[in-house]
Amino acid sequence: MLTIEQLGDIKGKRILVRVDFNVPLKDGQIRDDNRIIQALPTIKFLTSRGAKVVLLSHLGKIKHKDGPEAVMAQMKKNSLEPVAVRLKELLKTPVVFCPLTTGEEVDYFVRTLEDGETLLLENTRFEPGETKNDLELAQKWANNIDIFVMEAFGTAHRAHASTYGIPSILKQEGKKVAVGYLVEKEVNNLMRCVDVNPSDRPYIAILGGLKVSDKIKVIDKLLEKCDKILIGGAMAYTFQKALGKTVGISPVEDDQLAYAKACYEKAKGRIILPIDSVSTDAFMNWSKKITTKDANIPDEFEGMDIGPKTIALFQKEMKNAKMIFWNGPMGVFEQEDFALGTIAVCEAVNKLEDVFSVAGGGDSAAAVSEFGFMNSFSHVSTGGGAALTMIENEGLLPGLEILK
Ligand code: ADP
Ligand code: MG
Repeated sequence: MLTIEQLGDIKGKRILVRVDFNVPLKDGQIRDDNRIIQALPTIKFLTSRGAKVVLLSHLGKIKHKDGPEAVMAQMKKNSLEPVAVRLKELLKTPVVFCPLTTGEEVDYFVRTLEDGETLLLENTRFEPGETKNDLELAQKWANNIDIFVMEAFGTAHRAHASTYGIPSILKQEGKKVAVGYLVEKEVNNLMRCVDVNPSDRPYIAILGGLKVSDKIKVIDKLLEKCDKILIGGAMAYTFQKALGKTVGISPVEDDQLAYAKACYEKAKGRIILPIDSVSTDAFMNWSKKITTKDANIPDEFEGMDIGPKTIALFQKEMKNAKMIFWNGPMGVFEQEDFALGTIAVCEAVNKLEDVFSVAGGGDSAAAVSEFGFMNSFSHVSTGGGAALTMIENEGLLPGLEILK
C-alpha cells in the first residue's frame, strides 16, 4: 500500500480523504473528539503541501427504510456540522463545510477549492447507496478527484461506496490511492495482536459491551490466538444463561445461546466469566441496586456491571499478561454507579509493566479517555468492529485490500 509520503508532488491536487468522524454525540455535543484528533496529522500533511482536501465521513446510522419523516429526524441528529466546527478549531486552517453530500453544488465546492483548503461534505450515510456500495454514487464522489486517501480505519471493515467504491473507480482511472498516518499506525499495532509473537504471551483478551452478535463470532478466532478471554459487559449474560445461570431481565441474545455454550466448552477453562454482578431493577431510574453473591441474577433484576469479586478475578488474570487486547466496556460506564468494572480494567493495565496493551471500540476508547487512562495503553484504536474483524480475518480488511 502506498503511504501519503510516497504520493510525490501533491500541490494543487484534489485529494479525497475518507476519514472516520463517527464520534459519539450527546445532545448535539461531541463526547469524545479523539477520532477527529487522530486524523489531523494526515490532513495537515496534505494541506501544508498545497493539496485541496475533500473530507468524507459517515456519522451514526440512517435507516432509509423508516420513511421520510423519521429519516429527516435521523439526519438532523447525525449531521456532521458540529464536527466541522470542532475540526476548524483544531486545524486552525480554513475548513469549508458543505451541508450536502452530492450534486452540482458539491461539485462546485470541490472545483473551486483553493490550494491548502479543506472541504468537509455532509454525512455519507445520508445517501441510501453508501452502505450498498452503489457505484453510481461512488462515481459522483470520484468526479474531479485526483487521489484517494483512506484514513477511516474504524470503517475499513465495510465495503461501502465511500470506502470501497471510490478507490476501485479511481484505480481503474489510473489514479493513485493511499493510506493515511492513522491507518498505518492502526494496522502496525493491531497486526501484533493478529500474528502473535511468543514473547507476547500470556496474551489476554477482554471482551464486553453491548453488541453481542457482532462480537461473539470473534471468540472462536480469539481462542486460537489468546491464552485467556475475560468476558464482561452485556455479552456475559448470554454465556451465563447458556450455562444454566439465572440472568433476570439482563440483555441476552437467545439465538446465540448454543454458540456461547459450544465456545465455552471448547475453551476448556480459558473463557473466564463474571462470578458476581452489580444489578438493578431497571436500566434507567432504577430504585434498587444490589451486588449479587454469585453469577446468578435474581428475577426482576438486570446486570449493569461486573461485581467486586469479578474485578479481583479479572485483575488477577491480567497480572502476568504480556499482551492485552480489550474491546467493550465491562458495564454501563456512562452511569457513574456502573463504571467501576471498566475503570478496574484500565487500572489493571496501568499497573502492568512491559505489556503491549490495545483498547478498541468507540465506547471503550471514550471510557479510556474519560477516566484518564489514554497514556496507560500502548495503543487506543479508533476502530472496534474493524479491530475485531482484523483478528477474525487474519489482518485483512476490504477497505484496505482495495488499496493494494
Ligand atoms: P464499543 O463501542 O467499545 O465496541 P459497544 O458499543 O459494543 O462497545 O458497547 C458499549 C455499550 O455497552 C455502552 O454503551 C455500555 O453502556 C453498554 N453496556 C456494557 N455493559 C452493559 C450491561 N451490562 N447492560 C447493558 N449495556 C451494557
Ligand atoms: Mg459502541
